[in-house]
Amino acid sequence: MESKLPDVGTSIFTKMTVLANAHGALNLSQGFPEFDTPSKLKHALAEQTLAGHNQYAPSPGLPILQQEIAALIARRYQQHIDATAQVTVTAGATEALFVAIQALVRQSDEVIVFDPAYDSYRPAVELAGGRTVHIPLSAPEYAIDWAYVKGAITDKTRAIIINTPHNPSAKILKQADLDALKSLLVEHDIYLISDEVYEHITFDDVPHLSVLRDPELSARALVVSSFGKTFHCTGWKMGYCVAPPHLSTEFRKIHQFVNFSSFTPAQLALAEMLRDAPEHVDQLSTFYQQKRDLLVQALASSRFKILPSEGTYFLLLDYSDISDLDDVTFCQQLVEQTGVAAIPLSVFYDQPNGDNIIRLCFAKEEETLIAAAEKLCRL
Ligand code: PMP
Ligand code: GLN
Repeated sequence: MESKLPDVGTSIFTKMTVLANAHGALNLSQGFPEFDTPSKLKHALAEQTLAGHNQYAPSPGLPILQQEIAALIARRYQQHIDATAQVTVTAGATEALFVAIQALVRQSDEVIVFDPAYDSYRPAVELAGGRTVHIPLSAPEYAIDWAYVKGAITDKTRAIIINTPHNPSAKILKQADLDALKSLLVEHDIYLISDEVYEHITFDDVPHLSVLRDPELSARALVVSSFGKTFHCTGWKMGYCVAPPHLSTEFRKIHQFVNFSSFTPAQLALAEMLRDAPEHVDQLSTFYQQKRDLLVQALASSRFKILPSEGTYFLLLDYSDISDLDDVTFCQQLVEQTGVAAIPLSVFYDQPNGDNIIRLCFAKEEETLIAAAEKLCRL
């Protein structure tokens, strides 16, 4: 059969985790927490299923969870949204991104993405009949040149996808970025998809400037988030999309045929957690900053150059003083010979640029981080 996605293979995250397990390596590749979801949340999930809340939720989401998400946005971003009309609960951010893209992108439309880019954007755009236009960003700053972005806009440009805090560069967009983005969107009548799954993981008091804070930007945006990152439950596949009512209507037309509705007991448990334990979200940055600092310190005597991590649970390492191998081969050898699994950065690029950079995930126990750093320091 002729493939609709001829260039797509198994995701690098799956591949590296399989390789890590096969070699008994410390797995700092795929981004998921090694520690468990809070026990309060696990108990809430168990109680909701035992209480018999096991049938379909309304397609956009249970009102109680929509309300708690709106309350979270009001508390964190001082913006009041209409929970019923604007919040749609999805099967993780992956579904939300896919549906947002299907809702916006028409045959031959162009969508601007910034490389390194998360792997799910491009296939979703192509399945909608569109094409991604890739704007490469360079280490170590991964800064966006907005004049260059302007030059990439054509009359086919339908949307721009941003991701802040950014996987894998760990950078956060600043106010000047959002201002420049806003003027381009308005001038050219372009939509925005804002992937903010790491919104609550920021370091050194660098603020996360959610698109939801800015009424002009959010008026033309679908903002995507994930409970997996916030509550250490990536396996629950729970996320959501916040958009203006007219965009939510289009989003929901597709969501109802992709997922119809998301896991009812988890919606109830997450609503309870958001209501009763707001401190969990508020402490997340401190929690992860300690892990970042521990790993950075443990790697201080290594020959890797450590790139700054402003948010997310990722840290980039430049290995050009250690090896000339390309990053995919380097990562393969790292698993097989050193016992540490990492992600090569080239897989996030349409046109790999030959950088010698790998990504480590530090959402791991202290012992794992220290053991991995000890191995890496021997190189
Ligand atoms: N966007 C980015 C940038 C991510 O890193 C991830 C997951 N790691 C997702 C989206 C998908 O999130 P989810 O697991 O909730 O589908
Ligand atoms: N987003 C995670 C990462 O960047 C992986 C998610 C997945 O495996 N699909 O590592």
